[in-house]
Amino acid sequence: MEQVRVRFAPSPTGTLHIGGARTALFNWLYARNRGGRFILRLEDTDWGRSSEDAAAGIIEGLRWLGLDWDEGPDIGGDWGPYRQSQRLDIYRQYLQQLLEEGKAYYCFCTPEELQEQRTRAQEQKANYRYEKTCSSLTQAQVKQFLDQGAKPVVRLKVDPAGKTVVPDLIRGHVEFDNGLLDDFIIAKSDGWPTYNFAVVVDDHTMEISHVIRAEEHLSNTPKQLQVYASLDWSPPQFAHVSMILAPDRSKLSKRHGATSVQEFRDQGYLPEAVVNYLALLGWSPGGESDIFPWAEMASRFSLDQVNRAPAVYDLQKLNWMNGYYISVAELERIVALVSTEARRRGWLRDDNPAYFAAAVDLVRSRAKTTTEILDLAEYFFLPPQIYEEKGIHKYFSAPEALDRLRAVDAVLEHAGSFDPA
Ligand code: GLU
Repeated sequence: MEQVRVRFAPSPTGTLHIGGARTALFNWLYARNRGGRFILRLEDTDWGRSSEDAAAGIIEGLRWLGLDWDEGPDIGGDWGPYRQSQRLDIYRQYLQQLLEEGKAYYCFCTPEELQEQRTRAQEQKANYRYEKTCSSLTQAQVKQFLDQGAKPVVRLKVDPAGKTVVPDLIRGHVEFDNGLLDDFIIAKSDGWPTYNFAVVVDDHTMEISHVIRAEEHLSNTPKQLQVYASLDWSPPQFAHVSMILAPDRSKLSKRHGATSVQEFRDQGYLPEAVVNYLALLGWSPGGESDIFPWAEMASRFSLDQVNRAPAVYDLQKLNWMNGYYISVAELERIVALVSTEARRRGWLRDDNPAYFAAAVDLVRSRAKTTTEILDLAEYFFLPPQIYEEKGIHKYFSAPEALDRLRAVDAVLEHAGSFDPA
């Protein structure tokens, strides 16, 4: 049986979004379920938008979630390097091969010429497709341009006839009309590969067996299949995971609350709750309960049970899960998570750790996030700051109320044991 090798391939251009985290998780679950390998690869060919900080943040976010990988930029592996920016020689080698075989060609068209082609297409109410102007240049013409210092892009020759079928493990067979493709660019004028080329070279040379990724890449897949065909490589299996929508079914964005893993951490979510929640966002394993420990998720995960329909983000459900995990976690761990803030407030001191822990333990079953715990525990550490208006009128305004309270106060002051009884 073939070895399962899957990868998570984020572009380090921002934070680890929950969509990305879920893609990583599904890959991880699939690898662990099938006894395969999970690989982390950084797709940092978008030089202008990629940053070291973003790469470090993504790795930190994945680790915080509890995901581990078998090969990656930080730990190496036999199929490395695992950063696209360190693989330029590999891409160049295959670009060269395609150029020599006449399956790709240099294109020297200027932005103005391309704009003219676009305008022409618009006028004819047709889809814009590159007019293949440079595909018929002679070798002598190419040499002349290159000698003059021109910096061409490289385009792949695409046969516009017929259809490309993407066999997808989640979506079934998805057909694309090749007429919609044109001779697309596989290397930019600075020599760097484009995403659709680099991803194919990487997935093939890293012997990736299954590409599990976001639905937004489904429309790139026909182009990638053209690259596989040109290089005479057989493609991996594909599985495109549906989008995550906001409750109103619009695109999930900042206004719907936390959307990055770092934000979840900072707002007091536990990683196991986020992981459990994300796993069920699109995966329906069936069964009684929504609570799945890691090991059980990995042993039950299957792409057959991943839904084709978009998943809808439900903060209430995440809060409920987080509350559950807070209530069953080791008390020491929860105390540690709130202790910095508690010390800052002066509620946790060297002389009261047991009292502090007991207060945390008492309120945690009502907290949805760890940050809520201190708010709920306030009355153990601060005298009342305000009294409820209505209550004051109802109970404190009778003439004898004050005398009674004083009497209770005197008794409580001398009460020896302060247990519930
Ligand atoms: N780098 C791409 C992204 O972050 C992923 C590409 C892929 O998985 O093929 O969206």
